[in-house]
Amino acid sequence: MDALPPGSTLGILGGGQLGRMLSQAASRLGFDVVILDPEENSPAGRVSRGQIVAPYDDPNALDVMGRVCDAVTFEFENVPAASVDRIRAGGARVAPGPLALAVAQDRLDEKTFLNGVRATTVAFHAVSTIEDLHAGLDRLGMPALLKTRREGYDGKGQVWIKSTRDAAEAWDALGGRPCILEARADFVRELSIIAARGPDGSVAIYPLGENRHAGGVLRTTVAPAAVDARTDKAARRIARAVLNGLDYVGVVGIELFDLGEGRLLVNEIAPRVHNTGHWTQDGCACDQFEQHVRAVMGWPLGATLPHSRVEMTNLLGDEVDRWAALSGKADLRIHLYGKSPARPGRKMGHLNRVRPLQH
Ligand code: AMP
Repeated sequence: MDALPPGSTLGILGGGQLGRMLSQAASRLGFDVVILDPEENSPAGRVSRGQIVAPYDDPNALDVMGRVCDAVTFEFENVPAASVDRIRAGGARVAPGPLALAVAQDRLDEKTFLNGVRATTVAFHAVSTIEDLHAGLDRLGMPALLKTRREGYDGKGQVWIKSTRDAAEAWDALGGRPCILEARADFVRELSIIAARGPDGSVAIYPLGENRHAGGVLRTTVAPAAVDARTDKAARRIARAVLNGLDYVGVVGIELFDLGEGRLLVNEIAPRVHNTGHWTQDGCACDQFEQHVRAVMGWPLGATLPHSRVEMTNLLGDEVDRWAALSGKADLRIHLYGKSPARPGRKMGHLNRVRPLQH
């Protein structure tokens, strides 16, 4: 696929912080960016050439995106497949493709795909009825984690089941929707790997990050993570298997459970730039946002070698009010998303603490 020249227009579905940082990277490479987001004055819209304010399934808006944009991408995975088809019909290329979206939108399809490309996950059981749930608990043992197949994020839409007596309550709590029951992963830590693939099949993989969550939300990523050669090799193999298996174009975020001794399980994949990849902005010559734009626009992929060690910390809710003190610290780079209000737990920005890489 030909490289789109500077001056081409990139469309982004979603106007949040990921869209904003993608837009900033795209404009640095000389592209114009148009955002589609139902909310006026979105964080991404405010740094772009323009924003179409409409729902993600609005036929007129999608037709305009398809006509005006040379390529279209997205900042979230729950983009309706019909919207992607409609944009494509207008003439724009869309990346990542429909298979990546379909797989990432359904936890059961995702785990089935992953195991099919030998990217191992926890054992799991499809649950459509309370009887399925009991059968799954018998098979997987307890505790086990019941998750909705679709539309869960940041720990939402999931309930731990510790005894068969909790089963009915858990099933009701998730609204009797189609679910997946997962065995518990006995991990020592959570890692993630950010990787990219271009339309020519070239692959670029960043070093692993180590992640800490609080209340289901990412707090910090430290990267490059201290990992042994076996773990590093296993993660790279998984990244290649996922990218090639999906015939992927763009950046993917892959969340991993580290079981120790080089054994990794895949938790989930995000077909987009990822919060655990924000460290690359200050740790690598080509960050994940530029990398995604390069892949989608058909440019050669950029270098993923780290030049610094970075500790990324999310600024949640009113933590962002400390911007004045934080912005005065020499080793901190502050990234703010231009959002308001600072509702509790809302991702308002992040800090990258930058240290020289130790050799
Ligand atoms: P998710 O929404 O699937 O990314 O899950 C959110 C968090 O729940 C993960 O980051 C893990 O800390 C935890 N978690 C998810 N699935 C499992 C599992 N099968 N076993 C243990 N912990 C899990």
